[in-house]
Amino acid sequence: MPPPSVPKTVRDFIYYYYAKLVIAPSAGEAGNYRFIMDRYRRLKNGEIQMSDYDREIQRLAQTPGLCVFCAARGHTVPMEVVPLALGGPVGIHNLVHACTSCDTSRQGLDLLSWWCGKLGRDKDDLPPIPAGLFLKLAHERHTVAFTLASRCADIASLWPRASGEAGRRAPSPSRRR
Ligand SMILES: [Zn+2]
Repeated sequence: MPPPSVPKTVRDFIYYYYAKLVIAPSAGEAGNYRFIMDRYRRLKNGEIQMSDYDREIQRLAQTPGLCVFCAARGHTVPMEVVPLALGGPVGIHNLVHACTSCDTSRQGLDLLSWWCGKLGRDKDDLPPIPAGLFLKLAHERHTVAFTLASRCADIASLWPRASGEAGRRAPSPSRRR
């Protein structure tokens, strides 16, 4: 969780987790807290920028056959970071390598629901490649929607979760004109 000093907007959450998971992926320990907060503030101030998707795409190209989630080596399949069914884009910037075991386990769940909810892992342990792509995709989506400054409660809500589920149950297409 970001500390209380971190304002809770979409933009802040993206920058905070980008600093923590992508710039300082090994920084779970308190000793790295200052480093993370320094990078977070620099992102906010515009002194540094999130890299483009190439960073992750190049890493993936260098590690064929390696599951980005469990580090298993062998046969991998392309897995969408944000499932198309949840509004994820078509493209290499939304794909990572996953072993068939992780792919089977995920079953189209959104990233955080699978990682935290189903696997019981901590969001702070989300591996840097899928985390980086997820945060960049979320940043792009919120940029075009002009919602970077809106309130946000958690990294898991950066991408509207299971909106399809809620939508399917909503009885009211008739309300639209
Ligand atoms: Zn795996």
